[in-house]
Amino acid sequence: MVIPCYNEEEVLSETAARMRDKYLSLEQQKLISPESRIVFVNDGSKDSTWDIIKDLHAASPELFSGIDLAHNSGHQNAVLAGLMTVKDLCDISITMDADLQDDINAVDEMVKKYYEGNQVVYGVRSARKTDTFFKKFTAESFYKFMKLMGADVVYNHADFRLMSRRVLEELSGFKEVNLFLRGMVPLIGFQSCSVFYERSERFAGESKYPLRKMISFAVNGITSFSTKPLKFITATGFIMSVMSVFAFIWAFVAKFAGFAELGWSSLLCSIWLIGGLQLFCLGIIGEYVGKIYAEVKHRPRFIVADFLNDLGAEFLDKNSGTTEHNSQTNGQ
Ligand code: UDP
Ligand code: MG
Repeated sequence: MVIPCYNEEEVLSETAARMRDKYLSLEQQKLISPESRIVFVNDGSKDSTWDIIKDLHAASPELFSGIDLAHNSGHQNAVLAGLMTVKDLCDISITMDADLQDDINAVDEMVKKYYEGNQVVYGVRSARKTDTFFKKFTAESFYKFMKLMGADVVYNHADFRLMSRRVLEELSGFKEVNLFLRGMVPLIGFQSCSVFYERSERFAGESKYPLRKMISFAVNGITSFSTKPLKFITATGFIMSVMSVFAFIWAFVAKFAGFAELGWSSLLCSIWLIGGLQLFCLGIIGEYVGKIYAEVKHRPRFIVADFLNDLGAEFLDKNSGTTEHNSQTNGQ
């Protein structure tokens, strides 16, 4: 399990205690191996978060581990740092917030879903009873707007998610710097499903996502996954150019009917035509910028799920963990 923590001293001990219980129960049910670990990622906290993590590790090194980031890198980067650190050490990873808002009891079902053959299991909020109206409204509008913009995100799913080693391997092939994991993971593909849970209130402390961060997160999500805003400019420019034809007709009618002021017709026509053309040209440049943007991301162009016969022998040799994992999912 990977848990990002930023100034979470107030909740960490409680989170650790509940996780310990959960781990013991999962182990007893033989759902996870006794070698499983909980990895806290300290995202440059200014309080005693890292000290608490070190204490937890000192007391139970077989259960708790930690990564200390050199500075605050943001939630998404902290999650990725944790995932990339554990990717060669685990069969499955689960990411969860430190504040106990995600229901830890959903983990059982997530793991079971993995054994049923799912490589990705999304934790989805079925209700937001404890969220304020503002948080609920902004968050739900965000998911709807993302869909509208063409980004494939799972509705009401944040970053409470199980991923298999195979998926982590593929995730490491995404080299982009502006991370938006909720958009990236569905892009990878593989068999996936959702587990529903009720999101509760933050156990203690304050949200580390003030409105400012929420807006920048949403803008990042949209601009990282969609070039629709650029297409919107092209479309507006085109529509304005077409409308300038009507402006021309109107200007001529007005002129010959004699109710136009001197110079009004030419001004009206130029404004519409030039405005439209400028927007249209901007949109065309935008299309190219969008292409450059997609190119520099260096995203994998395809992801192979499986090979038949010996086609992929060499590939699988290089990814021996993957082969092992595949047979495990198929066999269990
Ligand atoms: N977090 C982080 N770095 C940041 C901000 C947040 O690692 O810069 C962590 C935080 O400790 C928590 C998770 O990300 O575990 C989600 O943050 P929070 O609960 O404050 O967000 P909210 O649930 O209010 O959206
Ligand atoms: Mg939270």
